[in-house]
Amino acid sequence: EHFLARIKQFDGELNSFVTVTEQQALAQADAADQAIAAGQTGLLTGLPIAHKDIFCTEGVRTSCGSKMLDSFIAPYTATVVNKMASEGAVMLGKTNMDEFAMGSSNETSYYGPVKNPWDLERVPGGSSGGAAACLGARLAPAATGTDTGGSIRQPAALNNITGLKPTYGRVSRWGMIAFASSLDQAGPMGQSAEDCALMLQAMAGHDHRDSTSLNQKVDDYLGALKEDISGLTIGIPEEFFPDTLDGAIADNSRAAIRELEKLGAKVVSVSLPSIKLSVPAYYVIAPAEASSNLSRFDGVRFGHRCDDPKDLEDLYKRSRSEGFGDEVKRRILVGTYALSAGYYDAYYRRAQQVRRLIRDDFARAFEKVDVLMGPTAPETAFKLGAKKDDPVSMYMADVFTIGVNLAGLPALSMPTGFINGLPTGTQVIGNYFREGQILNVAHKYQ
Ligand code: GLN
Repeated sequence: EHFLARIKQFDGELNSFVTVTEQQALAQADAADQAIAAGQTGLLTGLPIAHKDIFCTEGVRTSCGSKMLDSFIAPYTATVVNKMASEGAVMLGKTNMDEFAMGSSNETSYYGPVKNPWDLERVPGGSSGGAAACLGARLAPAATGTDTGGSIRQPAALNNITGLKPTYGRVSRWGMIAFASSLDQAGPMGQSAEDCALMLQAMAGHDHRDSTSLNQKVDDYLGALKEDISGLTIGIPEEFFPDTLDGAIADNSRAAIRELEKLGAKVVSVSLPSIKLSVPAYYVIAPAEASSNLSRFDGVRFGHRCDDPKDLEDLYKRSRSEGFGDEVKRRILVGTYALSAGYYDAYYRRAQQVRRLIRDDFARAFEKVDVLMGPTAPETAFKLGAKKDDPVSMYMADVFTIGVNLAGLPALSMPTGFINGLPTGTQVIGNYFREGQILNVAHKYQ
């Protein structure tokens, strides 16, 4: 009731929710009360949670921020949502996001931009902008997000919260609307690393319905927070502190690293020479996969269908022209081009080769260090509209986060102070399946 009241009071302005499931939330809260009375509690009993509107929820609209799915009600529920519900979580509603998770500012949403609670004239980041803003404004204590190129970490940084992208395959993608399947990963967003550890405990695990989910034991993430970090080696990739980086952004991350040094961590410099190619490689691979994934939205099987089609061709063309926004169309065009005969070798294959180089860079770094750290985003929240018409400058918002997705590694963003009243974040990147370790580093700092 507390959070529902805050949503009513403040979300008219913030626009962080697409759907609020008030009746369902109150019923689930009653069930949680009963479970507590009966002594049958799960990990998350009674915890109110906001789910990104990319997760299918049976009986509740799943829009993915698109006109295409404005009236789509999924016939089943995503594994992530199911797992959290079975541990007793209470769903408050579905959060706003960039259309099909394509964006870094939440401005591509069909439902309008989300405002940053720290400055209403600024963006909350994206694509999990609604999730991060509702947490920043304390409209929910916990949220889910997804991260294909930075969509959990960058908005977490811009809203002063903590968000974790797990190792690719740690969390099931079943029922999560696909953007770029080899990069997409769901993860927790919360007020602290401890909250994220609790949520990840409930989210992680093998799912036979997702062939890319890994059949590996789930660690004890809360237990990992008790470990000592003295003797831990932190690597600072020089490429994450380029000369062109805003000095105040660099200072905040360096200050956070110094705090960890005081707790006994050792700091060394490392290099990821191919990381500079991560944004161009991503913007071939992600649109290529998206162009294939989004072919299912044909006006027949799901979602928007144009009025009075003349014939099948007209039905496809107009349903897709009307249903998709500009950024989604741009990605479909770029992706289709990159995959077409004659260009495949020049673009897609080349981007996959670069992806391997980036992965190898990280692997070499992890031979010497336990975690890598640097700023999450190159700048604080920018003004609404500032980059809207300049896709390349928008794409650079993820310059520090995208490499991690290409390599499939886990990484989190934790809040590390303000610049002119706007939050900044620092990223902690771990080796595969070291979610417990990076959560612990953030927890020790916090
Ligand atoms: N901003 C990046 C993009 O637009 C990443 C988005 C994401 O992680 N979903 O593709």
